Amino acid sequence: MMDITWQKILGHEENIRELRRGLKRGTLPHGLLFDGASGVGKRKTAMTLAAALLCGKGDEACGRCPSCLAFQKESHPDFLTVKPEAKGKATPIIRIEDIRGMQSQIATFPVMEQGRVVIIDDAQTMNAAAANSLLKTLEEPVGKVTFILLADSRASLLETIVSRCNPMRFGILTAEQVEKFLLEQGKPPEEAQILANLSGGSIGEALSRPGEEVIKLQGDVFSYVKSLRRFSAKELWQRSQALGDKKEYILTWLTYLYMMLRDILILQVGKSEELIFHRNLTAQLQGLDADFPPARLFAWLKLVEEHHRRLGSNLNLRLAVENFLVRMGEVK
Ligand SMILES: [Zn+2]
Repeated sequence: MMDITWQKILGHEENIRELRRGLKRGTLPHGLLFDGASGVGKRKTAMTLAAALLCGKGDEACGRCPSCLAFQKESHPDFLTVKPEAKGKATPIIRIEDIRGMQSQIATFPVMEQGRVVIIDDAQTMNAAAANSLLKTLEEPVGKVTFILLADSRASLLETIVSRCNPMRFGILTAEQVEKFLLEQGKPPEEAQILANLSGGSIGEALSRPGEEVIKLQGDVFSYVKSLRRFSAKELWQRSQALGDKKEYILTWLTYLYMMLRDILILQVGKSEELIFHRNLTAQLQGLDADFPPARLFAWLKLVEEHHRRLGSNLNLRLAVENFLVRMGEVK
């Protein structure tokens, strides 16, 4: 059964306090916008808020009434989610039909007593027609409906939509918060620590790939970094083979490489260890100092960033990877 208590949400204490205050006083606006990186807890917070609104007994869902039981079974008649749908191979988006379907549902009387809650998930994927159609509903809501929009950033939405909602920013989590969560999920301590440090503060990211895979990826990137100053043609060929031709994997590998080079730079300027991603390798990374002066690190970081961007649209992946490895080896 779905958890609908506030206690299980990691971080975002201030947002939760504000939402609970609004619930208690009955002063929540009918349009809310939660924006922030994916995987930090926007959806979980929205679901918990929805359950509390539909329960209608104060600042938290009671967990026992017919409304709460229906919500926990994911079959609440007055709760709707609109989310992007894929058609064929196209990128999933929210279309005007999706918004219209929701509008016709909320035009009828709610089944239970506390009105309706609509979550618009990944609201930034609405096309212009869908966004304009939703805007009309936000301007003149029918009946008692609360809209909760979830988006990766405010800037990706129409300004008119943002102005109709009460925006609430969801920041990233600390590595400690993510680690605690992973330990509670039963991950082994070493794995939990590595995953948390590399998660960029997102639970979603930490759970996106298995721990063994992350450890292997990290080890592979570290062996490349160690060889960077003595990179031979033979190694280049082997490395290019090993990286393969899966774009998603290569992009992840480049992200890990970027984070590692950045870590070395941060360790050199003596910034606090909290900022380090590959925290389990701190001592080894510090040991690389002599061969990694800041100017060289900056040049590498720039190349990694540039190629990460370029690979996203490159058709000949292998050629692009080889070109990248050659240019990394050329940095003086
Ligand atoms: Zn209840």
